[in-house]
Amino acid sequence: MKKIFQGFKIKISFDALIFKLKSIIECMKKITLFLFCEFMVLLFGATLNAQNASPTLQRCMAATPTAEWDAMFNQLVEITKQQHLDERSKSTNYVIPVIFHVIYGTQAIGQYPNLSQAQINSQIQVLNDDYAGTGYNTNKYVNVNGHLPFYDYAVAYSLPSPDNAGVVIANTGISFILATKDQSGTLLAEPGIDRISYSSFGWADPASFTNLSNFKNYMDATVKPSTIWDPTLFFNVWVSDCNSQVSILGYSTFPNGTSLSGLSGGGSGSAQATTDGCWIYAKACGNTGSLDPTYNKGRTLTHESGHYFGLRHVWGDGTCATDYCNDIPKAQQANYVKISGGSSSTLAAYPYNAGTCPTGTYNNSTDGEMFMNFMDYSDDAAMWMFTHDQVTRMVTALNQSPDRSNLTNSAATMTTGVDRVSFDNSINVFPNPVKNNQINITVNLPYSTNLSISLQNIVGQEVYSNAAVSVAHQTLSCNLPALPNGIYMLVLTGSNHEKIVKKIVVE
Ligand SMILES: [Zn+2]
Repeated sequence: MKKIFQGFKIKISFDALIFKLKSIIECMKKITLFLFCEFMVLLFGATLNAQNASPTLQRCMAATPTAEWDAMFNQLVEITKQQHLDERSKSTNYVIPVIFHVIYGTQAIGQYPNLSQAQINSQIQVLNDDYAGTGYNTNKYVNVNGHLPFYDYAVAYSLPSPDNAGVVIANTGISFILATKDQSGTLLAEPGIDRISYSSFGWADPASFTNLSNFKNYMDATVKPSTIWDPTLFFNVWVSDCNSQVSILGYSTFPNGTSLSGLSGGGSGSAQATTDGCWIYAKACGNTGSLDPTYNKGRTLTHESGHYFGLRHVWGDGTCATDYCNDIPKAQQANYVKISGGSSSTLAAYPYNAGTCPTGTYNNSTDGEMFMNFMDYSDDAAMWMFTHDQVTRMVTALNQSPDRSNLTNSAATMTTGVDRVSFDNSINVFPNPVKNNQINITVNLPYSTNLSISLQNIVGQEVYSNAAVSVAHQTLSCNLPALPNGIYMLVLTGSNHEKIVKKIVVE
């Protein structure tokens, strides 16, 4: 297995380098093109802003999955559809506990790259907004001729509802919460943050590596295996500085699904357990702090986490190749699109690149390419959506991948692994979304327990708490303070340390 993996790693690096060269050439072509495009009528009210395209950061170097992985995962997607798990996702809470391993040298907290809690909090907020379909610039996805974008496409390919009248921005039903405890159940000093000083470990500065292959090898062979938290319980995210000659924004592993060997992107065996998760560049983390001006909306982790849940790039990593999502038109290649400013050379317009993949089903002749999808390579401000077929793939990973399916359960305990089956199944919270600042908790337990109730915002701050003694069969009514709209976590703990976390929406 090791041999296959080693061989694979060499392939990744080579592909990534070739890809980088291609994108530089493409970028140069687009600078020329741009001069002729200034008079284009632009949708989205984008302002014309002639700006030299500087060498851009490469958005992503997640390994392109093998045909073997594709076949395996697509099989699981079919099972998901047959079992209607994707439809159930509308009412299911998928709460993902996240731990950020912040890699730094000797800097004080808050000094780059030892990112502040505020910057990490901003990244969690971006993830939650983007996965809810309400993130930055979603208001630019507007009707054209009385229809949603991709209307003709939706009609031509008979897309099912809700996409039959144009492709809508999906609410994935997935939300993210900063881990509040470490692997042994100890309360974290800073929610969701594990600070790792490379100098105290005697490791090299991540920014000292000047080529991609060596950088990735350092991350995957040294940093990740020494710092990873149980990847079946936590979504691991590593954040570090990176040399300008490496200039990548992030990469991710793909979900495992079988015991097949040689699966790409951290598929099998020990490689999976020691490297699973995402790495992102510290200057592309969140939307506050010291950030690259083009990648300052926190979309790097939105994109990489898409891979983490099984999504492919919208162009299928080939010329007009498939990403297995029928509600996304084929794309010829990666798009580098901006809304205004930024370092990309092409301004957003709709339809964009229509006719670049003119043949076969799901072609883009009428409505062009979906540059605004998180799984393209556009600037942060020019990407803002997942689609429903992408949600089906994510739900597949969350239900059927052995290393993703327990994440939501672990949000309940964070770590302890206590058997909470009867506890989980015996507690119901309503109404959700909350109405009139009141929630009711119905308990129907086969035993009696003391219940502690804590409502926390997504960065782990408690906004309400209460307790009830000897609860078995009853409904508890809680009068909440007036709360800002958003997602909250209701943490219910029993006297035997049983714990359950329910996602609560205030709107
Ligand atoms: Zn990617």
